[in-house]
Amino acid sequence: MRTEVRICFDGNDIPGGAQAVLGPARCGPDVATVDDEPVLGRLDVWVTVEGTDPRLPVLLQLLRDHRASWLERRKDYYTDEELDRAQLIIMRNRGENDVFGGPRLGTCYDMEGACATCGAGARQTSALFIDGEDIPRLEGLRATSTYYSDILVDEALAEALAGIGATGLSFRAVYAVMPDKRQLKLRWRQLCAAHTLPPMSPRSTGIERRDACTSCGRSGFFTKMDDPPRLVYRPRDIAQSEDVNLTWEWFEDWNFDGNVSEALFSYPWFLVTPKVMRVFRDAGVTAFDWLPIRVEDDSA
Ligand SMILES: [Zn+2]
Repeated sequence: MRTEVRICFDGNDIPGGAQAVLGPARCGPDVATVDDEPVLGRLDVWVTVEGTDPRLPVLLQLLRDHRASWLERRKDYYTDEELDRAQLIIMRNRGENDVFGGPRLGTCYDMEGACATCGAGARQTSALFIDGEDIPRLEGLRATSTYYSDILVDEALAEALAGIGATGLSFRAVYAVMPDKRQLKLRWRQLCAAHTLPPMSPRSTGIERRDACTSCGRSGFFTKMDDPPRLVYRPRDIAQSEDVNLTWEWFEDWNFDGNVSEALFSYPWFLVTPKVMRVFRDAGVTAFDWLPIRVEDDSA
């Protein structure tokens, strides 16, 4: 695994300009880009380096010396060997061609057993409905996701996934709701998972509870920009896992007053086995980041 770090600061914050820190930190054009023109008074400077690059601590110290603030993004990349060896892999959508879908488009959910406060545990009972205005975004794709991590695959990819005998998955039809309310069946399928894992180990990092539901504690998990998600599960908790699973934790914002047709639900992440990941990657799908979990006993 390697971790890529991206630093962004305002060159106008530095007396003498961006080069006054880039020069001494030896960050040349191989790792640094400086905007040509200021935007709203900011002259953004981006530096992208490996987490182990010795120039990184030097650059950050220089920024501190100048009392400049900066944004820091960290992202993990895993080798093919690491991914193939993983027991489960987070399938994290990259948000590049997401479409709008879910309860507000008419998708139905069974709320029996779901949290009455936040809706976590809502069980989808109908086809997936997406916004017809987003149909052009599907053009040329084999797989994508709604903003809420409902995974969409084209028919051939659905067949390929069914063909490898993967466990724990099923497919639902996908309809687009057109501006005139007509429902148009699409040549796409929603990938659904039957199994929900137990809560992850507290040894997991890069995940925070920011807006936790006070009733169930299950909604309102978020990732951090400067600390990539590294999930840890105890061996016993993944003993019953399938090829496609959902996290117990539900991520991102929620807004629910009991009316499903207006609900914004948090959503679980998909955790899949390498053989499922391979079907997506072999199909040339680039919509997802693949992040292996770590399996570790935390009783010791
Ligand atoms: Zn709740």
